[in-house]
Amino acid sequence: MNKTAQREAILQELRSSDSHPTANELYTVLRIKLPSISLGTVYRNLEQMAQVGMVREIETAGKQKRFDGVVDGHHHIRCPICDALKDAPSALFGKIDREVYEIMCAMECDSFNLEFSGQCRKCKNTKEEDRKCKSKKENF
Ligand SMILES: [Zn+2]
Ligand SMILES: [Zn+2]
Repeated sequence: MNKTAQREAILQELRSSDSHPTANELYTVLRIKLPSISLGTVYRNLEQMAQVGMVREIETAGKQKRFDGVVDGHHHIRCPICDALKDAPSALFGKIDREVYEIMCAMECDSFNLEFSGQCRKCKNTKEEDRKCKSKKENF
């Protein structure tokens, strides 16, 4: 399989996902279809595509780097428990950005990375289940 086809496969896989996978997660999925692909190849291609703006790199201190096939402006919400990363409503984007740019214009800010934090539905439900279990036990 040639390099262009590999890159195309990586890009397609990333674009078909809305989970903002890490290079490792993408590799795990791609390996099933392309057993000859290596993690290094996946990582290198993602980095190169991010450099030319074909994909977006999401870097947050202390977290594994994630990748986004959607390059249009949008912000993210991260679950602090399971680290799931979701897209924030796009309506937020223009509004927040306009205000941030207005405040920051004295510093000639040309880009910034904004991330919201909130428990995902899955983690919230798990916590509620836990609480229900505990209160049941207390009743006994
Ligand atoms: Zn979660
Ligand atoms: Zn995104």
